[in-house]
Amino acid sequence: MKSRIAPFIFILFLLTALTGCAKKTEPVRREFFSMDTVMQVILYPDRDSDPAKMLDLAEQEVLRTDALLTSAMGTAERDSAAKILNDSELSALLNRALLISADTDGAFDPTVWPIVDAWGFYSGSHRIPKEDELSALLQTIGWEKARSAMNASDPDALPKLDLGAIGKGYAASTVKEKLHENGVTSAILSLGGNVSLLGSRPDGSDFTVGIRDPEDPAAYFATLSLSDKAVVTSGSYERSFEQDGVRYSHIIDPKTGHPVDNSLLSVTVVADDDILADALSTALFVMGPDGAAQFYQSGLYDFDMILMEKDRSVTITQGLKNCFETAETLKGILK
Ligand code: AMP
Ligand code: MG
Repeated sequence: MKSRIAPFIFILFLLTALTGCAKKTEPVRREFFSMDTVMQVILYPDRDSDPAKMLDLAEQEVLRTDALLTSAMGTAERDSAAKILNDSELSALLNRALLISADTDGAFDPTVWPIVDAWGFYSGSHRIPKEDELSALLQTIGWEKARSAMNASDPDALPKLDLGAIGKGYAASTVKEKLHENGVTSAILSLGGNVSLLGSRPDGSDFTVGIRDPEDPAAYFATLSLSDKAVVTSGSYERSFEQDGVRYSHIIDPKTGHPVDNSLLSVTVVADDDILADALSTALFVMGPDGAAQFYQSGLYDFDMILMEKDRSVTITQGLKNCFETAETLKGILK
C-alpha cells in the first residue's frame, strides 16, 4: 500500500517486561517499514531455531502481503481486477471481507476506494468534495456490487477496492501462521496500530499491551494483559486532516461518503482472529458508540472492545473486565 498517504509513524506501544522468562530464552526483535507504517516483530525463539531466520521470515511475509494487497488497491486497470478474481489468496480475502461487510450492514466496506480518493487520503492532497461529487461516487461503490462481480466472475463489474482496513490484520494472521509452522510459540507483532500476540510469554504469563491514547500519541490510556489475541485500534487521530478547525477522519461512512464524525476517539477490538479484529475496529468506529454496543450485544461475532469517547470516558465489554486497567473514567462494562 505504498501509494497511500504519507505515513503516520506508529511506535510500539507494548509495555512488555521482557525479562524473567523461565526458559531463559532472550527475545529478539526487528523493526522495519511496510504498509506506510513501522512494523515491529518481537519473538522468543525456540532453543533449536535460528532467531535471525525467524525474523527474516516474519519480515518477508509482511512485505509479501503488502505487495499483494497493493496490487489490489484501486484496481483501476481491468486486468488487475481479473487478477484479483483469479488469485486464490486475494479472492479468499475479498470473500472474507465481503462477509464482514454484510454482517456489519456495510459499515465495513472495501469498495470505499473512490470516496477515500476524493477526500485526498491516498495522494495526501486533502480536499473537501462537493455533495454532488460525493452523491455520484456513492452510486459507484457498495460491497454488494463486489459480491455480484465475484459471483459472476466478472472483472469489469468489480468496483475499485481498498483493503487497507484489513491489510495489517491479514499480514498478522499469515505471519503468525508462518512462525507457528516453524515452531515459534511466543511472539508479539506490532504492525502499525495492530498488535497480535502469538502464544504467551515463555513462562506462560500474559503479555501486557498498552492501548495508545488517541489524544497523546506518546502515551497509553490503558493496558491489557493477554495471550494469543489480536488487539486492533482504529481512531480518528490516525491519518486525519484538519481544515477550518474541523478534523476529517480517514475512516469513511460508506452510507454518506463523509469521514466518520461521532463521539468516538478510538475503538480497540480484541479477538482471536486478526482479520476480524481489524475489520471490526473500522466498522465499529463507523457505527458509533450505540451502534457498536448493539453490534456487540447481537452476539454475531465473538470479540471484546474498548471504546474511548471524546469526553475521555471509556466503555469496555465484559470479557476484558479482569485484564483491563485504566486511570480514565470507566463509563460502563457492556454485557
Ligand atoms: P483502519 O485504520 O484499519 O480502521 O482502516 C482505515 C483505512 O481503511 C482507511 O485509511 C481507508 O483506506 C479504508 N477505509 C476507510 N473507511 C472504510 C470503511 N468504512 N470500510 C472499509 N475500509 C475503509
Ligand atoms: Mg481496521
